[in-house]
Amino acid sequence: MKINPVSTTNYQISPPPLSAKKKRTDSGTTAPDLNLLNKTYNQLSFKAVPANVSLDLVKKIPLEDRLASIFQNFKLGDLILIGKNLNESARKMYKNTNVVKNAIKRGFFIADDSIGGNLGFVKNMIGDTEVINLNDSPITLISENKTYSMKPQESFYVINGDIIDINGRLLTIKDNPKTDLSMYRKNFSRAFDFQKEVEPQIEKINKKTISTLMQTAGKKSSPVTFAQVGGLGELKEALKRDIVYPLRYPEAYENIKLDHGAILYGPPGTGKTHIARALANEAGTNFISINGLEMESKWVGQSEENWRNLFNEAKENQPTLIFLDEFDAVARSRSSNNEYGNNVVNQILTLMTDLDNENANVFVIGATNNFDALDKAIIRPGRFGKHYEVPVPDIDGLREIYKIHSSAKPMDEKINVEELLQKLYNHKATGAGIKQIVNDAHNNGYERAGIFEKMANKTFTPKDLAGFKITQEDIDKAYDNFIKYQNSSTRKQIGFGR
Ligand code: ATP
Repeated sequence: MKINPVSTTNYQISPPPLSAKKKRTDSGTTAPDLNLLNKTYNQLSFKAVPANVSLDLVKKIPLEDRLASIFQNFKLGDLILIGKNLNESARKMYKNTNVVKNAIKRGFFIADDSIGGNLGFVKNMIGDTEVINLNDSPITLISENKTYSMKPQESFYVINGDIIDINGRLLTIKDNPKTDLSMYRKNFSRAFDFQKEVEPQIEKINKKTISTLMQTAGKKSSPVTFAQVGGLGELKEALKRDIVYPLRYPEAYENIKLDHGAILYGPPGTGKTHIARALANEAGTNFISINGLEMESKWVGQSEENWRNLFNEAKENQPTLIFLDEFDAVARSRSSNNEYGNNVVNQILTLMTDLDNENANVFVIGATNNFDALDKAIIRPGRFGKHYEVPVPDIDGLREIYKIHSSAKPMDEKINVEELLQKLYNHKATGAGIKQIVNDAHNNGYERAGIFEKMANKTFTPKDLAGFKITQEDIDKAYDNFIKYQNSSTRKQIGFGR
């Protein structure tokens, strides 16, 4: 977190004021003996600590060098505590855990009371080192000729050369110690490794997060069947043979090497998601639907782990069909300047190979409007090797889709359906477009018949629907709106293809 400078003149930065230096070295019972330190430093000013330096001497190395030595290996998930004793520092840190935005995996404690207080250091998500004021009163940070007041429980990032002032006792932040102290770290700091305990918890949290992006739909929650997919007769047959039957009857495919991935590609609104839902239902599998765009924008940086979690979840609940909508958002061609995208593509390739090796009863379908953007390695056999085009419906397809979406509605038999279908065909409308027109026509009918008004006045009763029909007028109005919206929209058209 950033805090505002309180003054720019209070401190002389380089070199720190003598009085301040004095205060620091004079304070505290364990403050190092200056002569001894100088002697140690003369000995330590080589590339490595010479073997004849006693551990006692190493322990007397200034705090800033001991701290700098730990900074050399400092990672996200690490915490450094400095204070008189571990128990007190830990208790102070306990009160400040809200400042830390990631799980603590490793802890280091440096016993030192020369600074007369307690400090915590963490690495933040963007790689900066942050100091946390664990004391009950403000401390001061001096950074690049500015001073900042840090209230208790505040944190601020620090850089090489910054000085932390706790009631006049100064600690300079250094990226590197004067000499390599790595061999002696255990003599001046205690290290605690929490990774084994923490990582399963992180996995749990990640699973919970990812589950919010999944819509797990078993037979009951997603009753879409192939009968509700209009047109696309050949495609449905191919999907049955390639995906539904292998998932439904795995015993019949034991000796056959099957692809675990497929691509559905075609214009927006042609029913790719709808087909995938029907597929899962027909195959009797769990259905996990993830949007590639969401996956990308939400989880940059953690994506690879989330992809692993997603596939693990699918395997734990197999048979499972994973549907990856907007697949091109994550599986686009790798390039040298997109490290994040490259990592994700590589991760997906690895996970697909694992499915193959383990012969898991998991099938992954990627859907895209932009097949050409997909990485060539992704669409190879053995990965997403089967490609199915989902085209804009022809006139027979439009007729079937219209029936599906209107059959449960009170349509007036006088509606000129063929004329509507011809107009939709000429406009290259898709299934999504038909669905929208029929639903809008229903609303137009309610409006015209005063049903909405009654609902607003709370006088509506089911009897008001007696004799209600969706008329040609309602359909025409919905169609006109649909065309108007599509013509005015500068965004990608939904409901139109070809
Ligand atoms: P996008 O590429 O924009 O994600 P999509 O191809 O996945 O679009 P869907 O989201 O499946 O299209 O289609 C939207 C809605 O349109 C579906 O929920 C379904 O109700 C209807 N629909 C589309 N095509 C058909 C079809 N062939 N049969 C019946 N309904 C369809």
